[in-house]
This record gives sequence, C-alpha cells and structure tokens, in this order.
Amino acid sequence: MFSLLRQPALSRFISVRLKSVAASQSLAAKRDRDLCNPSSPDFLTFEDPQAFKVKSFWELIRALGVFRLCSFPALVNNCGKLMTITRKVFGKQCFCMVVRPSVYAQFVAGETEGEIADSMQKMRSLGLHPMLAVPIEEDLGESTGECRYEDNLAAMLECVHMSHSKGWSKNPMMQLKITALVSPELCSKLTSLLKTEQYDLNKLVRAMDGEEVMFPGLTESENAHLLLGLQRLNKIGEASVNKVCVLVDAEYTYMNPALSLITMAMMKKFSQQSAWIWNTYQCYLKESRNLLLDAIQTSIDQSFCLGVKLVRGAYMDKERKLAEKEGRTDPIHESWEHTNDSYNGCLEIMLNLISEKPDRYMIIVATHNEESVRRAVTRMEELGLHRDGNSVCFGQLMGMCDHVSLTLAQHGFSVYKSVPYGSVDDTLPYLVRRAQENRTVLQGIRKERDLLRQELRHRLKEKITRAR
Ligand SMILES: Cc1cc2nc3c(=O)[nH]c(=O)nc-3n(C[C@H](O)[C@H](O)[C@H](O)COP(=O)(O)OP(=O)(O)OC[C@H]3O[C@@H](n4cnc5c(N)ncnc54)[C@H](O)[C@@H]3O)c2cc1C
Repeated sequence: MFSLLRQPALSRFISVRLKSVAASQSLAAKRDRDLCNPSSPDFLTFEDPQAFKVKSFWELIRALGVFRLCSFPALVNNCGKLMTITRKVFGKQCFCMVVRPSVYAQFVAGETEGEIADSMQKMRSLGLHPMLAVPIEEDLGESTGECRYEDNLAAMLECVHMSHSKGWSKNPMMQLKITALVSPELCSKLTSLLKTEQYDLNKLVRAMDGEEVMFPGLTESENAHLLLGLQRLNKIGEASVNKVCVLVDAEYTYMNPALSLITMAMMKKFSQQSAWIWNTYQCYLKESRNLLLDAIQTSIDQSFCLGVKLVRGAYMDKERKLAEKEGRTDPIHESWEHTNDSYNGCLEIMLNLISEKPDRYMIIVATHNEESVRRAVTRMEELGLHRDGNSVCFGQLMGMCDHVSLTLAQHGFSVYKSVPYGSVDDTLPYLVRRAQENRTVLQGIRKERDLLRQELRHRLKEKITRAR
C-alpha cells in the first residue's frame, strides 16, 4: 500500500486507526447481541411481501421472469455472447422487441427524456431516489480519443443537469467513471508513477483551473491529455457543486490510485463546505481499510469533506486472474467472510466519524447484502443518526433487491437506486458487465423471488374473491 500524497502525520493517523480498531472490536460484540435481540426492528428481516404493494402486476411478472433467467449460471456467464448471437439471428428490431420490455425495462430507466422522466417519477412515488449513471466505461485497449472524451463530457454534463433540474430527489446524486474522460492507459501509467512519485493536490487543482502544469514522468502528449482530462473533470465539478453529489466509481487496482488522486483533487477544490465529490472504497481489497484511513487523514490535512461510497467490489475475477498471471499476491481478500469483515470495519469507522461530524463525513452503504444493511441500520439507531439525514444513505442497483430498497424507504431511510439510461445499444455492454459482476447476487436472489411470488399470489386471490 502506498499513500497518494505526502506521508500523513503519523501520530494522528495511528490514533485514528487504533481508536477505530478498539471501538469496532468492543462494539462488534455488542452489535452481534443486538442483532439477535428481539427488540431489533422487525422490518430488518426483509421478509414482508407488502414491500412490493407499490409495484404493478406487470412489474411483478417481469421481475419474476428476469430473475428466473438470471438463476441459470450459464445464461448469466454467457449473456454477452448470447445477446450478440440472438441479435444476429433475429435482427435488431426483433431483438429490441424482446429485450426492451423485459431485461432492459427491469434494469434501465429508458432512452428518451420522456421515458427517463416516467421511470424517475415512478421511483419517486416509491420513496426511492434515483442516482443516474451514464453507461460509459473503458478498460485498457479500449481508448477512444479526445473527441469521444468530449462527447462523454457532454453526456455527463447533461446527466448533472437532469439530476438537478427535474426535482426527482431533494439531494440529487449521480455516478461518474473517470475513465470516460481520461484514458485508462494514462490512469494505469499514473498509477505506476505514484509508486515512486508524490503528486501535490494543489498542482492538480491548478491544472484543473487551466494552468499549463507539467507532471513528472509523463510524455508531452500524455501530459496534454491529462490536462484536458482534468479540465473536463473541472467542468463537471463546477456544474455540480452545490447542486448534485458526484460519486466517482472505483475500477481496477491498476488504475484506482490515479482515479483516487484525481478524485481527491476534485474534493479539495469542490468539497470544502460539503461533500459534493465522493470516492468509492472496495472492501474486497486487502488494503481497503488502509485506503479509507488514508483518505480520512488526507481530508483532515487538506480540510475537505469526505463522501464515501462503500462497496464490496465488482471486478474480483479479473483482479484475481491478473494477479495470478503477473505472479503478484492476490489483492482480494481470500474469502467472502474476510470481505464482509472488511466491509463491517470500514462501515464502523465511517459511522463513528459521522456521529461526531455529520457535516464533514458522508456515506452511501452501497450493497445488496441484507446483513450489511442490518448492521448499518442498527448502528445508526445506536449512534442516534437520522434515518433521512444527509450523512448516511443506502444504495442498490435499479431492478435488484427491491425488497431491501423498498423496505428501507418505507421506514424512512434515504435509499438511492443506481440508474443507467440510454438506448438498448448503449446500455447492453454496461448491463452485461453488471450482470457478470453481480452474478452471485443475481443467482442468490431467491428471497426476492419468493416475496414477489407471495405478492403475486395475494393479488390473484384478491382478484378472484372480488370476481365472486
Ligand atoms: C450503487 C452501487 C454502486 C457501486 N459502485 C461500485 C464501484 O464503483 N466499483 C465497484 O467495484 N463496485 C461497485 N459496486 C458494487 C458491485 O457492483 C456489486 O454490487 C457488489 O460487489 C456486490 O456486493 P454486495 O455487497 O451487493 O453483495 P454480496 O452478495 O454480499 O457480495 C458479493 C461480493 O462479495 C465479494 N466476494 C464474493 N466472494 C468473495 C470471495 N471468495 N473472496 C472475496 N470477496 C468475495 C465480491 O465483491 C462480490 O461481488 C456498486 C454497487 C452499488 C449498489
């Protein structure tokens, strides 16, 4: 693990770390007792099919059908290939006729402004907040050139505008992938350089403001591209500050340090008064806890507010394969249980900080895992944190684990659904990646299916009784 910036003041750094370790150990025992405590709120079992009473008959059927398909590992693992073949065999029109009302409608908000507005109004009526996500992302070897990055910028600015101007949420949020605006190759190179070079956040901020800064270790063209990328990100910061929280996604470990560096520079510029720029911490990484502690220390040193999206992480298989191929130690925790401990530990650190300084620290508990949600809710109640305060909220992907999202929303918590939008063509690659990343969640979605079935049976019975 290496720090992105100059070494943190060690004494304070260690004291934050030790305090949180001690606190989390002593509290863990108490919390475990509380979670088994019959006085824990009943809704935390997430077993009430009533959560779905707000869904239409067709939405229940659609969700059941799509989740049934997702329960076949072969279908999920090969969904990209299957979709390409089906499209070729039946033609684009036929393909869209099948995909649009089913998979697409389940996971995507729509294509036109009207369609998106309808989906968002619906979400709002369910008590959920949309978190718009432009479905653009690039990996190494997929770089598309400066023009394309400018087009992506226009799409992102449109996303800021939509998130803010339509009044779909009182505290709008959106997601941002830095690799949509700066090439993955450069992010990867910057990550390598950060192992030996220290980058000053002030220098990045000056570059965002348009100063012709030279960064060490980069060629002239790489430097020029970085400057343009930082200026693009500056435009997003300027458009969103005081209006929309921008949540920067975490991606692969071979670029994350560069993404975090850039995100911290954005935080330094735009998050002095409140957390308008957030970073993502992937708890499947062995170093996640230290990365979070480093970020907290940097936010103290540089006097900015810290917004944290806490996730388990989406790129496990590829990270592991790459580490094996390169003969490196696996960066991912060896088991799901270790990842869970890491998630719980980071959650504990953030909730404690928030209870002390709710204006300076914020978190979105971005998970479909019921146990993590239970922990977060229980700790919020213990610490006296407001259910719909600005500092703690929950996040799930659109179309997934609605029994968790709806139950939380019905009990007054602030819940965001990550919402991609765009044409079938634009969103399919995004959907395929998400399906593969979330296949363990999708395949284990038995409880949601059972609850959907119960609600469907209940409605059919009601209809039959009324007809008699
Ligand atoms: C709103 C939102 C935003 C997100 N943004 C990002 C992002 O920016 N970057 C990102 O990487 N992810 C992101 N994710 C997370 C990702 O998309 C998956 O949703 C997430 O990894 C699934 O974890 P879970 O907590 O929902 O489910 P769970 O079922 O509790 O956990 C499954 C996850 O556990 C981990 N895991 C499983 N088995 C093992 C094992 N053997 N060893 C170690 N770990 C294991 C993996 O991460 C796996 O995905 C986001 C999720 C949401 C809801």
